[in-house]
Amino acid sequence: MVRLIDPMDTHFQISGSGGILSQGEKLPRIDGIIPRIGVQSAGYVLSLIKQMETKGIVCLNTSQSMATARNKLHTLQYLDHAKIPIPRTTYGSFTVPSASLLASVGGAPVIIKTLDGSQGVGVMLAQTPSQAESIMDVLKQSHIEFILQEYVAESKGQDVRCFVIGDRVVAAMSRQGNDGEFRSNLHRGGTASGHLLSDTDREMAIRATKTVGLAVAGVDMIPSDTGMKVIEVNCSPGLEGIENTLNIDIAIQIIDHLESLIRAR
Ligand code: ADP
Ligand code: MG
Repeated sequence: MVRLIDPMDTHFQISGSGGILSQGEKLPRIDGIIPRIGVQSAGYVLSLIKQMETKGIVCLNTSQSMATARNKLHTLQYLDHAKIPIPRTTYGSFTVPSASLLASVGGAPVIIKTLDGSQGVGVMLAQTPSQAESIMDVLKQSHIEFILQEYVAESKGQDVRCFVIGDRVVAAMSRQGNDGEFRSNLHRGGTASGHLLSDTDREMAIRATKTVGLAVAGVDMIPSDTGMKVIEVNCSPGLEGIENTLNIDIAIQIIDHLESLIRAR
């Protein structure tokens, strides 16, 4: 039996039976889950997934890998360690002067990103040093962490989303931002079409997924003069846009993968 549970309806006992309740009602035995986290409430949902892991429930993506993927900085740290190409990126304490941070990433134009944004929100392009510094200053004052990243101008508002399940890329689409928009996210009005991946890029998407520890992921990469660079690994990638663009059923492949993991257990 398959059940859709809104994690925000749940609570659980850590001691005692460790049972999980949804809307006050104890859930029956669970073999496995396909966890999805949205923009809000990630903290609670990650704790719920951890609880399920400790009770032997097969979690398609683990709480630890999802916590890493939700943080763009941590993701890039893992990717770079695995020698996966990423744009030049800098991170620093709020006390480091904005001008020093900017200099260390090569100056403006520059991309400034909050660590846990999604759907293009929190990704800003500053054209001049003064724009960059004023954005950084307001983020610092509001205690919002950010990374500075080299602006890969030659990507021209295009990126490639690879949908990875296990050790396969099951779908890839190329997305193009609206006129004058450097962000290619479909939620920002971007348009999508099928994309034929090179063997190198396919292998890179799979390796990026494994490096972060995920089983199901949406890997975003942008074209640069020196080849594709990975910018993020999404732990709850949207299905609608890519399924409609490519006219394929990805959901069933995710379910099949979970079932194979449960059988192997
Ligand atoms: P989000 O989680 O909001 O999707 P991304 O890091 O994927 O954040 O960035 C959103 C979009 O902004 C990307 O798909 C890409 O089109 C553009 N973008 C992000 N980083 C860069 C960069 N360093 N250079 C050029 N464009 C970028
Ligand atoms: Mg993205």
